[in-house]
Amino acid sequence: MVADITTLDVDAIVNAANSSLMGGGGVDGAIHRAAGPELLEACRPLGGCPTGEARMTPGFALPAKWVIHAVGPVWRGGKSGEAQLLRSAYRASFRLAREHGVKTIAFPAISTGVYAYPKDAAAAIAVDEMRAHADAFDRIIACCFSEADADGYRRHLEPAAP
Ligand code: ADP
Repeated sequence: MVADITTLDVDAIVNAANSSLMGGGGVDGAIHRAAGPELLEACRPLGGCPTGEARMTPGFALPAKWVIHAVGPVWRGGKSGEAQLLRSAYRASFRLAREHGVKTIAFPAISTGVYAYPKDAAAAIAVDEMRAHADAFDRIIACCFSEADADGYRRHLEPAAP
């Protein structure tokens, strides 16, 4: 769907965080603004998060009960393990969600903003991981910020041509 992820009434939203977990631009900034200053105070003692991993906090003023802060890779041309790290960020997020009984979860397009991961390649990984975890959740939302981005996801959701 196309939406501002901070408005979604789901059990958990995923943040495309940086490894400091101390806030940033893009979706990270939007989530911190909407959740309120308590979110930064909850992140501070976590001491950061390595790329490809995720951490969880409450959602504070957000409609979502939880925020899962996932750290995707910076795109460096594709030969620095970016694909594995992006996949790992999705998997770590799903793992935390399951451990906390999350049934509805929304993801932004991790790494595709400032981190410059090519959108189509990132969408392929996102859709693949969402499919792999579908059975454990009532609803998994790919929350895009533009119609063009959503079309990119839809192409990967279409069944493969016979
Ligand atoms: P990264 O540093 O991981 O690249 P960004 O926040 O720069 O993270 O961008 C990740 C994606 O989130 C981009 O596709 C961007 O368009 C999108 N985005 C930015 N703000 C929001 C928002 N409020 N809700 C949903 N998606 C958003």
